[in-house]
Amino acid sequence: MDPGHRSELEAKVYSGARLSREDGIALYDSDDLAWLGRLAHHVRTQRNGDRVMFNVNRHLNLTNVCSASCAYCSFQRKPGEKDAYTMRVHEAVAKAKEMEDEQLTELHIVNGLHPTLPWKYYPKVLRELKAALPQVSLKCFTATEIHWFEKISGRTADEILDELIDAGLESLTGGGAEIFDWEVRGEIVDHATHWEDWSRIHRLAHGKGMKTPCTMLYGHIEEPRHRVDHVLRLRELQDETGGFQVFIPLRYQHDFVDSADGKIRNRLQARTTMAAPAESLKTFAVSRLLFDNVPHVKCFWVMHGLSVAQLSLNFGVDDLDGSVVEYKITHDADHYGTPDTMHRDDLLQLIRDAGFRPVERNTRYQVVREYDPPVPLAQRRAEPQQVWA
Ligand code: SF4
Repeated sequence: MDPGHRSELEAKVYSGARLSREDGIALYDSDDLAWLGRLAHHVRTQRNGDRVMFNVNRHLNLTNVCSASCAYCSFQRKPGEKDAYTMRVHEAVAKAKEMEDEQLTELHIVNGLHPTLPWKYYPKVLRELKAALPQVSLKCFTATEIHWFEKISGRTADEILDELIDAGLESLTGGGAEIFDWEVRGEIVDHATHWEDWSRIHRLAHGKGMKTPCTMLYGHIEEPRHRVDHVLRLRELQDETGGFQVFIPLRYQHDFVDSADGKIRNRLQARTTMAAPAESLKTFAVSRLLFDNVPHVKCFWVMHGLSVAQLSLNFGVDDLDGSVVEYKITHDADHYGTPDTMHRDDLLQLIRDAGFRPVERNTRYQVVREYDPPVPLAQRRAEPQQVWA
């Protein structure tokens, strides 16, 4: 990047001006990671100070049976496959209750698009979960699933959301977004939900007072311009509804899983590499800089590893996903020793070791508890440090 453009971008960031598509592409074009981090950290600090939010949640996947076969997905199974499963309602409740002692505040539920499960199963699961764990918020279903429910129930998304809200739904999840640009989407996505329906459903949810997350799956066959366009579509929708509370860049993962049948389901990995840590940090930073109207940027540590998660806090991130248990959608593909569980104390240590102040939040980003800031560096270093994977 020429020095003139660099100064121009700095001036825009420090004055709070909105960045353009060209600015986003230029930022991705820079390999000066320290510079990108400095800009993103400025914006993050202006918005969120030295706080890092986290929550204590559990991920539940009610079924891995899916009618679609997205090219990147190592989670889906077809009916009758060896390790295909679908939870009965009482099994889902029992799984959720296993974490009651951890003062769980959220259940995060996403699933395959099951070809024969009836629509009534989904509100029933939510009602039973809410009855068993009334203090826990239910963050459930991608826009893709809501679109699927329209198909299997004959109801509109409006009616579906009303029924799910009545059953206890507090937020949708942000998945199903992948990369919206059709050039990429046509090659990686097999389900029928694209920008028009994804945005329609989140707009509807926002209209009902719901706050939702939004995501981007990066690091596969897309180019930086696709990432920029993806964020700008979401930014425009956010201008309209104000309903997104967090943006979550999700790192695409190869499929190393030893599944029961030994099959590699990911059809992208022959032609891709996974994003390196530097690319992930750049993606967090540029996302924070472009997405000027979303309050938070999250690192979902299960997909990035704990080292990148800790570093990301200096690259625009101010939110970490919580004490995740049994995350299957892409953790099935993780081969790098990243744990699939972090307890509250683990997260506190990880955040404080990076020099930030931990704040526990609920699904609506309300503060559940403020924790002490990190002790001075000299004291921290007096104790042996945890070595993160
Ligand atoms: S990403 Fe979702 S919709 Fe696509 S195959 Fe996997 S489970 Fe099914």
